[in-house]
Amino acid sequence: MNPIPVNQPLLDGNEKKYLLECIDTEWISSEGPFVKQFEEQFAHRINRRYGIAVSNGSAALDVALVALGITAGDEVILPTFTIISCAAAIVRCGAVPVVVDCDATTWNMDVNQIEDKITPRTKAIMIVHIYGLPVDMEPVLALADKYGLQIIEDAAEMHGQTYKGQPCGSFGAISTFSFYPNKHITTGEGGMLLVDDERLAARCRSLRNLCFQPQKRFVHEELGWNLRMSNLQAALGVAQLERLDEFVARKRRIGQHYTELLKDISGLQLPLPKTDYAENIYWVYGVVLKDEIAFDAQEAMERLQKHRIGTRPFFWPMHEQPVLKKMGLFDDMYCPVAEKIARRGFYIPSGMALTSEQICQVASVLTEVFQ
Ligand SMILES: *Cc1c(COP(=O)(O)O)cnc(C)c1O
Repeated sequence: MNPIPVNQPLLDGNEKKYLLECIDTEWISSEGPFVKQFEEQFAHRINRRYGIAVSNGSAALDVALVALGITAGDEVILPTFTIISCAAAIVRCGAVPVVVDCDATTWNMDVNQIEDKITPRTKAIMIVHIYGLPVDMEPVLALADKYGLQIIEDAAEMHGQTYKGQPCGSFGAISTFSFYPNKHITTGEGGMLLVDDERLAARCRSLRNLCFQPQKRFVHEELGWNLRMSNLQAALGVAQLERLDEFVARKRRIGQHYTELLKDISGLQLPLPKTDYAENIYWVYGVVLKDEIAFDAQEAMERLQKHRIGTRPFFWPMHEQPVLKKMGLFDDMYCPVAEKIARRGFYIPSGMALTSEQICQVASVLTEVFQ
């Protein structure tokens, strides 16, 4: 039996052709034409006016917070169940991350807990759509409106997903994406900010490019970063974007196939196929061990590894991160749902290149391990 990796991208469209074009034309840096093309096409696909391509999704979050003027003493509300990049971006601009727990079935932030966390210092809510289903946006938008808060929308896992028919990534003042190879479309490493406001777009572009000034290039009023995306990366992005609809359909088929094969394993909680606002796009296919299973996710992943099946643990909650606790954050914080799924959840091979045979193979090993 061949090993089944947790992720494998699909690069059999125009990727090679466009990469060769970069080499033939000698356009390899961020000045090349694919960067602008990718920015425009991706922004258009998500119904936004401006796209600002950057070197990765974490960098996109760093730029987003600074561009929105989040600064020392401000508070930003975010889900505890997310990737470190979200909290890191908040901490790095001097602001305070304030976390809420997640919902036990969608694994997304529990929007009912947000209002209690709002203080006079709250400046923004960072939304993070998790694993395949979007956050329930309407209550969040209403709160943002009521309290005058900015929304930053981390849509790194949500390319092509919609919330009540509107594209994920079209809700925040700034939304961010990642194009890491396990995302729905990939550029190897890469990310993008999407905005509608022209001045905000200019600010993101400037921060991405060391805050060089148009007139006096090497005189700086502000510190930025070099987070530019190369033409080579953008060439991949343009080729991948041509297939986004196909990729989303493919991921949905993978998810549905898994659910069909795993639904009778009583010890496993599977992803929700849909909510009343979206159908799952299964960025990853996560499972959570129910109480009746005597061991935890770590042990389950080790057992699957013996059968050469790749897995990844669920996110580890922000309020339990040693690095953040050492900063004096989250004393006595308790988020029971996130704490539980962090210990009981993991995801199984979910990459774009996964075949039906591989899905059947993974399912049969899971059946053997859990029954
Ligand atoms: C992948 C991911 C990121 C980080 O993107 P990178 O390109 O790996 O830096 C940020 N947020 C979420 C929700 C992600 O899934």
